[in-house]
Amino acid sequence: MHNTTWLEFDAAALRHNLAIVKQLAPGGAILAMLKANGYGHGANWVADTLGERAQGFGLARLCEALALREHAPSKRLLLLGTLVDDNTLKHCAEARLDLVIHRLEDAQRLADTRLTTPLSIWLKRNVGMNRLGMSHEDFVAAQQLLVGSKNVKEVIHMSHFSDADTPRAEVTEEQAERLFSSSRALGTFPLSLANSAAIIAHPHTHAQWQRPGIMLYGDDPTGTLTGDNALRPVMHFKSRIIALKTVHPGDGVGYGRRWQAREQRLIATIGAGYADGYPRHATDGTPLMVNGQRASLAGRVSMDLLTADVTDVDHVKVGDEVTLWGQGVSAAEVAERCGTISYELFTQVSSRVERYYD
Ligand SMILES: *Cc1c(COP(=O)(O)O)cnc(C)c1O
Repeated sequence: MHNTTWLEFDAAALRHNLAIVKQLAPGGAILAMLKANGYGHGANWVADTLGERAQGFGLARLCEALALREHAPSKRLLLLGTLVDDNTLKHCAEARLDLVIHRLEDAQRLADTRLTTPLSIWLKRNVGMNRLGMSHEDFVAAQQLLVGSKNVKEVIHMSHFSDADTPRAEVTEEQAERLFSSSRALGTFPLSLANSAAIIAHPHTHAQWQRPGIMLYGDDPTGTLTGDNALRPVMHFKSRIIALKTVHPGDGVGYGRRWQAREQRLIATIGAGYADGYPRHATDGTPLMVNGQRASLAGRVSMDLLTADVTDVDHVKVGDEVTLWGQGVSAAEVAERCGTISYELFTQVSSRVERYYD
């Protein structure tokens, strides 16, 4: 029997979600986003589970990319936008990492350095996020520096959307057009635009490479996939009831007695808290599953414990299993109740939580 707090990971769900990516964007290659330890799912496990179904993996930090390189010696790995200094370039060459070049100065540095192995470069155009990437003029100038360089083996043109998960489709269309027109002006290059939301909602952005992240892990940022196309949760965050208490009208529960009983209710104390990665800002009423039935958070989340109203759950007893998110209650739903998104919940489950991989 598992102890009080653990994560279960579902390999079949991960493969199902990847199959949905392929179905929505047939033809292109898949660069699965494994940054932040595979969105908290375990980068090595995600890499092994996806295997040849994904053509490459994306990482955000040099340390992440180097660690995954040890585990996946022959896989295509892309180091996303980062600080490009001589150390970064040297490691990319030695570890055969593809690299995002997002500033003209970084293209110049790459052209001026002597590398042991040429790199595949993903040249990034700023299309409206104004975070990373180049203007049209810098993009053109960077391309000219790179095509003549012995350090560059291939150039892919990329951009990243700011609004692909909102109903404002025209913003995404304008942003896509900025990459298309800059790229067209330079010739014919492989393109990469779409994150999960664009894979689902903006088929005109599908190109040679798609970059799915959150949808692989079971959250649909557009909330539009249903039926056979519905995504499945990969991470199940579980715990157990460790105490039950009957409370009476006027009784409060937890720190500050934020939640107060209006009638006689049954309160379960569950062995998970914010130190496990359950969000402290979760509001009263945030759903969770007990014995396959819905219950709701009652009272402030504390470091190691949280409390829920389980009055309406049948046959509830100490030791019963609780799903904080996963089957029956999505991380997106929990996130919504605490002013965040599933991405943040997935990446913040702490190291003391045991991991079980199937
Ligand atoms: C994280 C990331 C993605 C994936 O985004 P999702 O919304 O998780 O699909 C795609 N591209 C870039 C550059 C990213 O950093």
